[in-house]
Amino acid sequence: MIINPERQPIPREFIEKLPEGFKVANRHGSIYVVVEDVRCPNGHNIITDTVRLHGEPSIGIKVKGGGIKGTMYLDPFWGLHQKLFDFMFKSNIPNPLIKAACPHCNASLMTTKRCDTPGCNSDEFIEFSLPGKGNKIDVCARWGCSEHSITIESIGEDTTVQVKKINYQDMHTHGEAMGF
Ligand SMILES: [Zn+2]
Ligand SMILES: [Zn+2]
Repeated sequence: MIINPERQPIPREFIEKLPEGFKVANRHGSIYVVVEDVRCPNGHNIITDTVRLHGEPSIGIKVKGGGIKGTMYLDPFWGLHQKLFDFMFKSNIPNPLIKAACPHCNASLMTTKRCDTPGCNSDEFIEFSLPGKGNKIDVCARWGCSEHSITIESIGEDTTVQVKKINYQDMHTHGEAMGF
Protein backbone atom coordinates (compact mmCIF):
# COMPACT_ATOMS: atom_id res chain seq x y z
CA MET A 1 0.00 0.00 0.00
CA ILE A 2 1.52 3.34 -1.06
CA ILE A 3 0.93 6.26 1.26
CA ASN A 4 1.66 9.64 -0.22
CA PRO A 5 2.19 12.05 2.71
CA GLU A 6 0.76 14.94 0.69
CA ARG A 7 -2.51 13.07 0.28
CA GLN A 8 -2.50 11.44 3.70
CA PRO A 9 -3.56 14.07 6.24
CA ILE A 10 -5.48 11.54 8.36
CA PRO A 11 -4.11 11.63 11.94
CA ARG A 12 -2.35 8.41 12.94
CA GLU A 13 -4.45 8.14 16.14
CA PHE A 14 -7.64 8.06 14.08
CA ILE A 15 -6.38 5.24 11.83
CA GLU A 16 -4.95 3.28 14.76
CA LYS A 17 -8.08 3.56 16.93
CA LEU A 18 -10.42 3.61 13.93
CA PRO A 19 -13.88 4.23 15.43
CA GLU A 20 -16.74 1.87 14.67
CA GLY A 21 -18.75 3.16 11.72
CA PHE A 22 -15.64 4.00 9.69
CA LYS A 23 -13.39 1.98 7.43
CA VAL A 24 -10.21 2.75 5.55
CA ALA A 25 -10.18 2.59 1.75
CA ASN A 26 -7.30 2.74 -0.68
CA ARG A 27 -7.93 4.60 -3.92
CA HIS A 28 -5.17 5.26 -6.47
CA GLY A 29 -2.50 4.71 -3.84
CA SER A 30 -4.00 7.08 -1.24
CA ILE A 31 -5.70 6.18 2.02
CA TYR A 32 -9.14 7.59 2.78
CA VAL A 33 -11.48 7.26 5.74
CA VAL A 34 -14.95 6.15 4.65
CA VAL A 35 -18.18 6.34 6.67
CA GLU A 36 -19.91 2.96 6.64
CA ASP A 37 -22.48 3.14 9.46
CA VAL A 38 -24.46 6.24 10.40
CA ARG A 39 -27.94 6.13 11.89
CA CYS A 40 -31.10 8.12 12.51
CA PRO A 41 -32.30 8.66 16.14
CA ASN A 42 -34.38 5.46 15.78
CA GLY A 43 -31.36 3.36 14.82
CA HIS A 44 -31.91 2.95 11.07
CA ASN A 45 -28.68 2.70 9.10
CA ILE A 46 -28.98 5.38 6.43
CA ILE A 47 -26.10 4.10 4.31
CA THR A 48 -27.56 2.95 1.00
CA ASP A 49 -26.43 0.89 -1.93
CA THR A 50 -28.93 2.71 -4.20
CA VAL A 51 -26.24 5.28 -5.00
CA ARG A 52 -22.52 4.59 -4.77
CA LEU A 53 -19.95 7.39 -4.70
CA HIS A 54 -16.33 6.45 -5.54
CA GLY A 55 -17.56 2.85 -5.52
CA GLU A 56 -18.91 2.86 -1.94
CA PRO A 57 -22.51 3.07 -0.64
CA SER A 58 -23.56 6.67 0.04
CA ILE A 59 -25.51 8.33 2.87
CA GLY A 60 -29.10 8.75 1.72
CA ILE A 61 -31.35 11.33 3.40
CA LYS A 62 -34.72 12.92 2.70
CA VAL A 63 -34.46 16.70 2.47
CA LYS A 64 -36.74 19.69 2.15
CA GLY A 65 -36.27 23.46 2.17
CA GLY A 66 -35.76 26.24 -0.37
CA GLY A 67 -39.00 25.25 -2.08
CA ILE A 68 -37.92 21.70 -2.78
CA LYS A 69 -38.49 18.20 -1.42
CA GLY A 70 -36.25 15.36 -2.45
CA THR A 71 -33.45 12.92 -1.72
CA MET A 72 -29.79 13.68 -1.29
CA TYR A 73 -26.87 11.27 -1.27
CA LEU A 74 -23.80 12.45 0.64
CA ASP A 75 -20.23 11.31 0.02
CA PRO A 76 -19.15 8.54 2.43
CA PHE A 77 -15.48 9.46 1.77
CA TRP A 78 -14.31 11.87 4.46
CA GLY A 79 -13.18 15.17 2.88
CA LEU A 80 -14.39 14.55 -0.67
CA HIS A 81 -17.83 16.25 -0.60
CA GLN A 82 -19.28 14.71 -3.73
CA LYS A 83 -23.04 14.32 -3.72
CA LEU A 84 -26.07 13.51 -5.80
CA PHE A 85 -29.55 14.94 -5.42
CA ASP A 86 -32.80 14.81 -7.34
CA PHE A 87 -33.92 18.45 -7.06
CA MET A 88 -32.94 21.97 -8.11
CA PHE A 89 -33.38 25.13 -6.07
CA LYS A 90 -34.98 28.15 -7.64
CA SER A 91 -32.28 30.67 -8.54
CA ASN A 92 -33.68 33.29 -6.12
CA ILE A 93 -32.86 31.09 -3.11
CA PRO A 94 -29.30 29.94 -3.81
CA ASN A 95 -28.27 28.81 -0.31
CA PRO A 96 -31.36 27.71 1.62
CA LEU A 97 -31.46 25.91 4.95
CA ILE A 98 -32.18 22.22 4.53
CA LYS A 99 -34.29 20.04 6.83
CA ALA A 100 -33.15 16.42 6.73
CA ALA A 101 -35.01 13.27 7.75
CA CYS A 102 -34.48 9.52 7.86
CA PRO A 103 -35.60 7.86 4.58
CA HIS A 104 -36.94 4.86 6.56
CA CYS A 105 -38.96 6.40 9.44
CA ASN A 106 -39.01 10.11 8.57
CA ALA A 107 -37.45 11.03 11.97
CA SER A 108 -35.85 14.46 11.92
CA LEU A 109 -32.03 14.53 11.80
CA MET A 110 -31.95 18.20 12.81
CA THR A 111 -30.23 19.55 15.91
CA THR A 112 -29.93 23.10 17.25
CA LYS A 113 -26.38 24.41 16.86
CA ARG A 114 -25.02 27.76 15.78
CA CYS A 115 -22.74 27.80 12.71
CA ASP A 116 -19.57 29.90 13.15
CA THR A 117 -18.83 30.26 9.44
CA PRO A 118 -18.97 34.00 8.61
CA GLY A 119 -22.12 34.90 6.72
CA CYS A 120 -23.84 31.55 7.26
CA ASN A 121 -26.09 32.33 10.28
CA SER A 122 -27.51 28.82 10.40
CA ASP A 123 -28.71 27.70 13.82
CA GLU A 124 -29.36 24.12 12.75
CA PHE A 125 -27.15 21.19 11.87
CA ILE A 126 -27.91 17.76 10.43
CA GLU A 127 -26.79 15.13 12.92
CA PHE A 128 -25.72 11.58 12.06
CA SER A 129 -25.28 9.11 14.92
CA LEU A 130 -22.24 6.84 14.81
CA PRO A 131 -22.01 3.51 16.67
CA GLY A 132 -21.03 4.09 20.32
CA LYS A 133 -22.75 6.36 22.82
CA GLY A 134 -22.23 10.07 22.10
CA ASN A 135 -20.39 9.50 18.83
CA LYS A 136 -21.69 11.59 15.96
CA ILE A 137 -21.02 13.67 12.86
CA ASP A 138 -22.86 16.92 12.29
CA VAL A 139 -23.11 19.02 9.17
CA CYS A 140 -24.36 22.63 8.82
CA ALA A 141 -27.87 22.71 7.36
CA ARG A 142 -27.04 25.64 5.06
CA TRP A 143 -26.69 24.55 1.43
CA GLY A 144 -23.17 25.45 0.32
CA CYS A 145 -21.74 25.75 3.86
CA SER A 146 -18.94 23.27 4.55
CA GLU A 147 -19.08 23.57 8.37
CA HIS A 148 -19.15 20.16 10.08
CA SER A 149 -17.70 18.38 13.08
CA ILE A 150 -17.04 14.91 14.41
CA THR A 151 -17.34 13.72 18.02
CA ILE A 152 -15.78 10.40 19.07
CA GLU A 153 -15.70 9.76 22.83
CA SER A 154 -12.65 7.46 22.70
CA ILE A 155 -10.50 9.84 20.63
CA GLY A 156 -8.87 13.05 21.81
CA GLU A 157 -10.30 16.37 20.67
CA ASP A 158 -6.95 17.36 19.07
CA THR A 159 -7.34 14.41 16.73
CA THR A 160 -11.01 14.97 15.92
CA VAL A 161 -10.27 18.63 15.14
CA GLN A 162 -7.57 17.46 12.70
CA VAL A 163 -10.02 14.98 11.18
CA LYS A 164 -12.57 17.76 10.78
CA LYS A 165 -10.05 19.73 8.70
CA ILE A 166 -9.39 16.95 6.19
CA ASN A 167 -10.48 18.37 2.88
CA TYR A 168 -9.32 17.32 -0.57
CA GLN A 169 -9.90 20.74 -2.07
CA ASP A 170 -8.86 19.86 -5.59
CA MET A 171 -11.43 17.09 -5.78
CA HIS A 172 -14.69 18.94 -5.30
CA THR A 173 -16.28 22.21 -6.27
CA HIS A 174 -16.69 24.80 -3.53
CA GLY A 175 -20.17 26.01 -4.43
CA GLU A 176 -21.80 22.86 -3.09
CA ALA A 177 -19.42 22.01 -0.28
CA MET A 178 -22.09 20.76 2.16
CA GLY A 179 -21.00 17.52 3.81
CA PHE A 180 -17.89 16.40 5.67
ZN1 LIG B 1 -35.13 6.12 10.90
ZN1 LIG C 1 -22.96 27.04 8.15
